[in-house]
Amino acid sequence: MIPAIDIAYEVLPHPPSYLAEGPVWDEVQQSLLWVDILNGKILEFNSESKEVETFEFQEPIGAVALFPDGDLLAAMQSGIFRIKRGTTNRTFLCHPESDTPTNRYNDGKCDPYGRFWIGNMAQDHSPGAGNLFTVYPDLTSKLQRSGVSISNGLAWSNDHKTLYYIDSPTRCVQAFDYDAATGNLSRRRIAFQIPEQEGTPDGMTIDRKGMLWIAHWDGWQVARWDPETGKKLLGFKLPAAQITSCAFGGPELKDLYVTSAREGLTEEDIRLQPFAGSVFIIKNCGFQGFISPRVQITNSHKS
Ligand code: CA
Repeated sequence: MIPAIDIAYEVLPHPPSYLAEGPVWDEVQQSLLWVDILNGKILEFNSESKEVETFEFQEPIGAVALFPDGDLLAAMQSGIFRIKRGTTNRTFLCHPESDTPTNRYNDGKCDPYGRFWIGNMAQDHSPGAGNLFTVYPDLTSKLQRSGVSISNGLAWSNDHKTLYYIDSPTRCVQAFDYDAATGNLSRRRIAFQIPEQEGTPDGMTIDRKGMLWIAHWDGWQVARWDPETGKKLLGFKLPAAQITSCAFGGPELKDLYVTSAREGLTEEDIRLQPFAGSVFIIKNCGFQGFISPRVQITNSHKS
């Protein structure tokens, strides 16, 4: 297995998050959004002013996505909300799993057709208690997968015919045939498994060559994997063990933004990795991503 290499990175100017996750690039604002899940925060880094704004809520937030007008969709403990951009004003949209209060939403993403995909997990990490849902534009939702432990890493292939998906404790990247017209999944298979010494796969994105970029929790790296061969192509070393997710950003989508966590670290761990919980930028990483798709909602609940 090829070792991760040293690379120049910058650290975003914010106090470290406890569990930074779910980076989403807004190409209109040239800003990066992410969540600090357990602290109920949405953060936004404006790449022009170099400032970070924080929006605080009273409950965990698993993921955010963008609406066409710049408002945010946020998957919170009590449901999926629309948030007026730049504020904490929110409007309830739906709650795909309202009957399991012991679960919380985790990683989520908008697909290339404007549907929002959101997974969840047991707050106490009970194995197999999580699910994966799709929220359709009319705000109905569908259970896509059950028996998931920690729902993470969603990425669609460049031809939109395949969905890649990670249930972290399995260390596997699963692949499904993806029906663009309906959002339905079929023909589940294991694309590849991450060896244990590389850490646990968490969040994921895809580049324009169709290669997967995976955050390695307890692996000190973000790495590029070929989903066809299951080979690791490249790893970038980062100064935090728990790397959680990644997204391409910047004016040409050539910068890689990488989130990390200090969840569960001891004081001694934090002394050794003071940047744990930070968001890192690898400028001009040598690869290019896609613009984040925007959530389409036909059932208008705009506040
Ligand atoms: Ca995650």
